Amino acid sequence: MKKRIAVIGFGGMGSWHVNHALKSDVLELAGIYDIDESKSEKARGMGIYAYSSLDEVINDKSVDLVTIAIPNDVHLDTVVRCLKGGKHVICEKPVALSSSDLEEMINASKESGKLFTVHQNRRFDVDYLAMQQLADSGEIGKPIRIESRIHGSRGIPSDWRGEKEHGGGMILDWGIHLIDQLMLIYKDEVIDTINCTLTNITNKEVDDGFYLTITFKSGAVAFVEVGTYNFISMPRFYMKAEKGSALIKDWREKTQVAKCKYWHENDVLPVQTAAGLTKTMAPRDSVTLDTYELDIPKSDVHDFYRNFVSAIDGKVTQLVTHDQMRLDMKIMEQAFKSAELNQTIKFEY
Ligand code: NAD
Repeated sequence: MKKRIAVIGFGGMGSWHVNHALKSDVLELAGIYDIDESKSEKARGMGIYAYSSLDEVINDKSVDLVTIAIPNDVHLDTVVRCLKGGKHVICEKPVALSSSDLEEMINASKESGKLFTVHQNRRFDVDYLAMQQLADSGEIGKPIRIESRIHGSRGIPSDWRGEKEHGGGMILDWGIHLIDQLMLIYKDEVIDTINCTLTNITNKEVDDGFYLTITFKSGAVAFVEVGTYNFISMPRFYMKAEKGSALIKDWREKTQVAKCKYWHENDVLPVQTAAGLTKTMAPRDSVTLDTYELDIPKSDVHDFYRNFVSAIDGKVTQLVTHDQMRLDMKIMEQAFKSAELNQTIKFEY
């Protein structure tokens, strides 16, 4: 049976959830609640019920779950009130601004017996899935280093995302997605150190980009870069693995794989550079490599809600677990700490 959902916040992402619910095979939209009356009017104009307060949502016994899509600094209060009010809760990312806030939310979930998760929708992005499936398959061996980058050229959106008090900045905005993805690819690794540098090119108050290096005890490395002042973008994903390399230039493109067939080459044709010849950095003889493209993985973002609804019915565990939420939060907190201290820090679980 379909579950009835109310969406809290009818801005950019709230509208996405509403459109999604209207098309969903597992949801029925009860309505929206937004503190901004103009958003309520917009909803009514679309034939959607607009609640007049959060209490009205909580007191509506027909509502099974709420999705919270409001600015990051107001997640805590709304999540806790909805859980305590007997609703299952999906909160937008970043779920919280600190580990202690997150624990308060998790405690409210435990005490109320209601499910609580975060909308990590980029677990359904096909670029990430391609990298994750390649790593899992062992086709080119274990990853030694994965670089995950998103480059834009328009700075931070000129809204609350540029303001510290609302939880703005790119670590909390895009970083959380890329960290979450990499920690799923490196799910069996133990983090050793964190090093992070923030950029403030277009915004002095919050990070408008960052470079984050997560080093694992095994020696493997995850590198994340978000930039909002890049007029030429670097490739979306690069993987260096034990038996080859993989590249995704753009998140709409297929993965290029080069698997090393023969380590030794007979004759290497040197490359002429201005400074002289190099054999070390010359391209490999193509007969020593297996080069091919991977099919774009199948993905359906509706599976996020299908999973959550099944989890409410006790049939499956929720896709994004509390422990995964805790780990992502700790990585972001310690990335900020490393940037502030301007040094590499030992990761504390
Ligand atoms: P937005 O500014 O477009 O919309 C926020 C809405 O929340 C506004 O309509 C505002 O009036 C309303 N609001 C503010 N405080 C409220 C409160 N206390 N109660 C009810 N309504 C309130 O912002 P957005 O882009 O929709 O972002 C909302 C959340 O979604 C953020 O946490 C953001 O990080 C997240 N987000 C996630 C993704 C994703 O891909 N998962 C993408 C964009 C945004």
